[in-house]
Amino acid sequence: MEELTEHVCIICNQTKTEGITIVSQFVCEECESEIVHTSAEDAKYHFFIRQLKQIAMPKNA
Ligand SMILES: [Zn+2]
Repeated sequence: MEELTEHVCIICNQTKTEGITIVSQFVCEECESEIVHTSAEDAKYHFFIRQLKQIAMPKNA
């Protein structure tokens, strides 16, 4: 049985229990499906990519 742990989504900053973890950062189910359905021409896509880049580049580096 899986434990339902609350995580703060890095995209929408909301606390969710359902989602995926990328490089120890949490992305909720809703944002994940939004990323999947967002085209590269969409301004939102660039917002998602920018948020995801913050994972790869830690602020304290
Ligand atoms: Zn989210």
